[in-house]
Amino acid sequence: MRAHEAGALHGDLGSRGPAWLRTPEDVNALVPQLWPRTVTRDAAGALEIGGVSVAELAADYGTPAYLLDEDDLRARCRDFASAFSGADVYYAGKSFICKAVVRVVEEEGLFLDVCSGGELAVALAAGFPPERIGFHGNNKSESELRRALEAGVGRIVVDSFYEIARLSALATELGKRPGVLIRVTVGVEAHTHEFIATAHEDQKFGFSLAGGSAFAAAAQILDDDVLDLRGLHSHIGSQIFDTSGFEVSARRILELQAQIRDARGVELPELDLGGGFGIAYTTQDDPSTPGDLAKRINKIVEAECEMASLRKPHLSIEPGRAIVGPSVFTLYEVGTVKDREGIRTYVSVDGGMSDNIRTALYDASYSATMANRRSDAEPMLARVVGKHCESGDIVVKDEFLPSDVQPGDLLAVPGTGAYCRSMASNYNHVPRPPVVAVRDGAARVIVRRETEDDLLALDVG
Ligand SMILES: *Cc1c(COP(=O)(O)O)cnc(C)c1O
Repeated sequence: MRAHEAGALHGDLGSRGPAWLRTPEDVNALVPQLWPRTVTRDAAGALEIGGVSVAELAADYGTPAYLLDEDDLRARCRDFASAFSGADVYYAGKSFICKAVVRVVEEEGLFLDVCSGGELAVALAAGFPPERIGFHGNNKSESELRRALEAGVGRIVVDSFYEIARLSALATELGKRPGVLIRVTVGVEAHTHEFIATAHEDQKFGFSLAGGSAFAAAAQILDDDVLDLRGLHSHIGSQIFDTSGFEVSARRILELQAQIRDARGVELPELDLGGGFGIAYTTQDDPSTPGDLAKRINKIVEAECEMASLRKPHLSIEPGRAIVGPSVFTLYEVGTVKDREGIRTYVSVDGGMSDNIRTALYDASYSATMANRRSDAEPMLARVVGKHCESGDIVVKDEFLPSDVQPGDLLAVPGTGAYCRSMASNYNHVPRPPVVAVRDGAARVIVRRETEDDLLALDVG
């Protein structure tokens, strides 16, 4: 049966469901691209991750909880590192950073991007080699830049003329010569399936290529010998499935590279093409493998270099979501089930927009499955919602769940490793969930659950 025929099973609701929903018979199935690699259903139908059942994890650590498959995370780091061998792979720490993940990234040989003093502090606290850190941001403060220089951060990606002046003054004061990249706005705004080259200049990041300020920034840094200009940088967006955006950005940025060579006689040795590689949140998404991405990106860069008679620069990329996103799922407990007659069934879980803001913020799509048992009950189209005082507090807009789902059942929402814990809030004074890493039958808390004491600790008086 096709998804859209599910309406036959549940009034007229199914016909309103998106066509990409899993077929109703599949409610117990785990579509491999959505789940970390060690996740299976055990004989009783409960999910297992890293050889540990979710019932046990829920009992030990409570819900909601982010469950991280450490083998899966390591494998994704290795897949990118080997696919892009010869290039530097920076893990974009903003997608999710904590000391344990920084150590994994370090052990797997990756580099690390940070974009604030706080992220830099975590990286340094975990002992990450500073020369393998890249520092981003359109408004880095003087104290953040000072800290980066004192720590010996490998690359600072400059984003404004003010920053060039600020960094240059600080580097002179501290007697340092930091490696810098220029963040270039190439005029490509990449969305999930297409790129739009119209409103491109209208955003806060980078130096405009079309307007000439990217060239002017390069000239200024080359004139001022304090900063070591290593190359150009572009990041065109997030959750990208189509490499044509990278093709346009590589072409434009290498044209700038050629312009700099022609004007100044310098071929910048490095090129950073950013991150943004898409992952599967639902069965509709079909992401590329790191191997495919590497092949296509290398081919694009080589072709464009040949056209402009440039030597191929040393490449770097910055995947965040594509490394940590698929390695985590969120485990929730169902608290209430409400049938809105003739509309849909609302299944409320014990978290929501405080642990996953992406549905409300970006209209993102997620999927869910019952995690504590298998069910042969008739499938129903459900909406998974949180416990917050906001009707937009939706975790999963549409999903088929077994119609016998009830309070006490566990629900798992995959693909929550990136931009969920890192964007989590304390809205409604809900403590943020823990991150529990599971591997080889053993679990360890890598970020503990917040407590009410944590919440009260900031109240003065
Ligand atoms: C956000 C960001 C990334 C990572 O994006 P993902 O979609 O998580 O891969 C990489 N580079 C820069 C400059 C970013 O701002």
